[in-house]
This record gives sequence, structure tokens and C-alpha cells, in this order.
Amino acid sequence: MWMDAFQTTDIVDIAVVAIIIYQLLMLIKGTRAVQLIKGLFVLMVIYLLARQMQLDTLSWILNKVWGMLLVAIPVVFQPELRRALEQIGRGKFITMHPGTTGAEEYKKLIEELVRCSQVLSQSRIGALIVIEKTTGIQEYIETGVKIDGVVSSEFLVNLFIPKSPLHDGAVIIRGDRVAAAGCFLPLTQYNGLQKDLGTRHRAALGLSEVSDALIIIVSEETGVVSTAKNGKMTRFLDEKSLRDLLKNEILVEKAKRINPFKRGDSNA
Ligand code: ATP
Ligand code: MG
Repeated sequence: MWMDAFQTTDIVDIAVVAIIIYQLLMLIKGTRAVQLIKGLFVLMVIYLLARQMQLDTLSWILNKVWGMLLVAIPVVFQPELRRALEQIGRGKFITMHPGTTGAEEYKKLIEELVRCSQVLSQSRIGALIVIEKTTGIQEYIETGVKIDGVVSSEFLVNLFIPKSPLHDGAVIIRGDRVAAAGCFLPLTQYNGLQKDLGTRHRAALGLSEVSDALIIIVSEETGVVSTAKNGKMTRFLDEKSLRDLLKNEILVEKAKRINPFKRGDSNA
């Protein structure tokens, strides 16, 4: 009987595969990998049609293209793959860096971040603030000037005042402290960004592609407050939506981290 062969392990097997596929889809949702999947899908359809219609040369070429893609995809999607592996490897299991900061400190951090973003936005001062999470971003801290200061909105605003020595580049926050300022972040290679988003926004998106850091961007030109996370940008945040987003990203996600299958970036 075939039923005998169908054991509980099969159910577990199917469930695990389903979860993995779901997690993979969530991982690439809203990133440039979506276009890639669409492209692959179109190629696949053409290939199947070509075979069906016995267009031998076309199906031979497409057959070769698959082999090429196997090499090309890991190269092109190196940042995404790195982020994915990091998330699987440790991201969701350990507490926030450096692990000693409590909920009260994070609540205060959020309020200071919201306040400084409002002030910066109203005064049209451009800013780039990185909140480190589980992926270590020491290499980017090293590109700037180390600070180790208590976060306050006044201090943050001060750092970004034009012509001040550290205003150029990003401020990085680790735990509830300002770790460094004037840091240089990697620019995204993504071409689909709106034309009015320049290098500041590209740098935020770039870092979010290679780490799980949350980045707040205040536009100098428009005062618009945005965030970048996991290669996705959320724009036009007002005071309330920024506070909610930060709470969700910092407080809720910290609490959720025990469950590796619950993701906290549903609002991204
Ligand atoms: P805005 O809306 O504020 O004008 P933008 O996205 O149009 O932002 P630019 O006008 O090009 O960007 O902003 C330039 C500023 O962005 C620089 O002065 C610098 O402070 C910051 N910046 C640019 N590239 C990087 C980078 N790779 N890492 C960190 N900061 C950067
Ligand atoms: Mg600009």
C-alpha cells in the first residue's frame, strides 16, 4: 500500500520545504532579485515552448544559457546571497548588538531618533543614520571617525550640520551609543531608483543590501524622511510612522528573535 510509505517524516519533509520556499520568497520580496526570477521564468517558458515546437537551435542555445546563469547569478547577486546566508546563519537567533542594552534604553533611543529626524527634516539638513543590528558592520565604522557617545537628538543634529567636520557620510549607532560618524557606506548597484534619489539614498540602500542594519535617511533637498532595510526603501515617513517603524524594527524584532520563522520587516 502506498499509504504505508507515506509517513510522518514526509509531512515534516513537505512542511520544511514549504517553510524554506516561503522564507526565500519573503527574503527576495521587493528586492531586485524579483526581476531576476521574472526573467528566469520568461526564459523557462520560451525554452519549453521552443522544445515543444521543436525549434532545435533555440532550445539548444537556451539550454547552454542555463549553465551560464549558474555561474553568473552568484556573482551578480553576491550581496543578496551574503545577506541571506548571514540571516540564516545567525541573524535571527542572537540578541541585538552588543546585547546588554535593555528595552528602556531602546525606547529612549527611538525617541531621540524620531526627534532628531524631525528637526533635521524641518531644517532641511541631510542625514544618514545607521542602526546596527546583528550583522557586524565594523568595516564601515572604521571608514569614519570613532565616537562612542550617548545618543541624543541634539548631538545627532549637531553632527549633520553642514560644514561641521563630521557631517559628510553616515552616523552609525551600535546598541544605544553613537559608534562613529562620517562613515562611508557601499552604494547600491540597483538601477530602478527614482531619479531624485542621489548618493545618500544609494548608500543607505547599499548598506541595507549587505547587512540587516536599519538606516534612516533625511533628504537635504526635500526634507523627506525614509528608511532602508533589507534592500527596500520606505519613504515619506512622518513622526508617527517613523516611530512605529522603529518600534517594530528595534523593540518588537528584538522580542521576536527567539522565533526564527517570524520576520519583523512586514512593513518594509
Ligand atoms: P538629498 O536628498 O539629501 O540631496 P541625495 O540622495 O540626493 O540626498 P546627494 O545629494 O548626492 O544624495 O547627497 C550627498 C551626500 O550624501 C554627501 O554629502 C554625503 O554626506 C552623503 N553620501 C554620499 N555618498 C555616501 C556614501 N557612500 N556613504 C555615506 N554617505 C554618503
Ligand atoms: Mg541630492
